[in-house]
Amino acid sequence: MNTVTLQMNTEYSDKFYKNVLTRDDGHWIWRGSVTKGGYGRIMINREQIQATQLSYMVTCNKSLANIKHLRMVKMCPIKLCVNPLHIDAQVKKY
Ligand SMILES: [Zn+2]
Repeated sequence: MNTVTLQMNTEYSDKFYKNVLTRDDGHWIWRGSVTKGGYGRIMINREQIQATQLSYMVTCNKSLANIKHLRMVKMCPIKLCVNPLHIDAQVKKY
């Protein structure tokens, strides 16, 4: 089980929530732009990031700089799910 602590960052929350459908089954379905591979994406400050990264920025109070050090590993079979509890954010090893 993921032990992420949810802490809201309101800076990008509008951008996030208007693109997300929170389903009763616990999955948060991305409804915005999608990559060829089928994953959510969005432009933030003229940079394309993953929808899962934006999810972490908004729900776990991370900055754009913070999330670049994290690798988002999906723990959920639904490609478009961006529920932070269904993502394992691992610190990148350089
Ligand atoms: Zn999910």
